[in-house]
Amino acid sequence: MIEVPELLTIDEALARVLEHARALPGEDVAVADAAGRVLASAAVARVDLPPFPSSAMDGYAVRATDTPGVLTVAGRSAAGHPAGIELTTGNAIAISTGAVVPDGADAVVPVERTRGGEGTVDVEQVARGENVRPRGGDTAAGDTVVPAGATCGPAQLGALAAVGLERVRCARRPRVAVLATGSELRLPGEPLGPGEIYESNTVMLAAQVRRAGAEVEVHGAVADDADATRAALERGLDADVLLTSGGVSVGEHDLVRGLLAELGVVEVFWRVAVKPGKPVAFSTRGSTLVFGLPGNPVSSFVGFELFVRPALAALQGAKDPRPAFLPARLGAALPRNAARDELVRARIGDGGIVQPLTGQESHMIARAAHANALVLVPRGDGELAAGSAVSWLPL
Ligand code: AMP
Ligand code: MG
Repeated sequence: MIEVPELLTIDEALARVLEHARALPGEDVAVADAAGRVLASAAVARVDLPPFPSSAMDGYAVRATDTPGVLTVAGRSAAGHPAGIELTTGNAIAISTGAVVPDGADAVVPVERTRGGEGTVDVEQVARGENVRPRGGDTAAGDTVVPAGATCGPAQLGALAAVGLERVRCARRPRVAVLATGSELRLPGEPLGPGEIYESNTVMLAAQVRRAGAEVEVHGAVADDADATRAALERGLDADVLLTSGGVSVGEHDLVRGLLAELGVVEVFWRVAVKPGKPVAFSTRGSTLVFGLPGNPVSSFVGFELFVRPALAALQGAKDPRPAFLPARLGAALPRNAARDELVRARIGDGGIVQPLTGQESHMIARAAHANALVLVPRGDGELAAGSAVSWLPL
């Protein structure tokens, strides 16, 4: 009997991918253009935030010990226009939200808790510090606002701008080449001949690449012809990452792995105990990472989410590039595969219940288009009962 080697688990395969995915060199990026970018070094506040004690309300800046009482209105402090005088006892300074709380004042009485206000104002009692945002109360100059390895979303960008940063240091975006293989593939818009299907993987993978923060070059589709495929692979190897679809199984037309080897690409692994996507291959040439994704559209899609997206995150210096699985409960029983962990297309619904979709075969991309979740069904015997705790990946 032939010894069949144990397939790598998803985690083992991912660990090997991440061993080869080191952060790309850094570049300066304008904060205005940094959405989705990963910081290569910590972003540090230029100024205290707020930069001065500022009022949280429209009202009157006072000394708390002068309240309650009738105070003389001695000046005004508007946003961007400080009063320019110190507050002395018995006085109040009319103040707007975001304006400088003058020296000598230690509280702001909101306008709703006052009467009058021309020459004098009758104020209710306030406590010391009430409605005053202390200088540096949000963050202090020199403090880290967004750490290295964090991805800049809208809130992070707002924080970077608020502390006076114009530019940040980010790993370069990975350049990803996408190549499909298969003599049966036609472009949408062309008529289908006998035995032909529409090529759907490059469009899908390109969108996944862009969503992962990388730049994509689509190299189209090549027929299962050694010379054409070799030439296309050679071109793709100029990128930081080459994604191929199809041609990595055991059929006589599956040329990709052999041709990659001819081109000096070193295989790290081939085949993972995962369904769909078992024939996935990962290899490297110099610093270029090559993922041979299986041609079945759902296999390509899942292989990208499990292995390529984390690699692209690692190349961008993400602190935790691994897939961010979330907890949920299973809405219906699912059979388990004895040998392979399975990623089941599902919809996450109310109350954290994930409902598996019907039609789980790896060619069923139209069915997969209804999914917003991939549920991990660990390999094993029997079935996973409805209500079981499961991990799922948002799509
Ligand atoms: P392969 O991995 O090349 O053996 O292909 C597996 C299955 O996926 C076959 O049914 C192919 O026709 C199909 N397939 C391969 N590449 C693509 C593609 N780019 N778009 C759509 N289907 C594909
Ligand atoms: Mg093929």
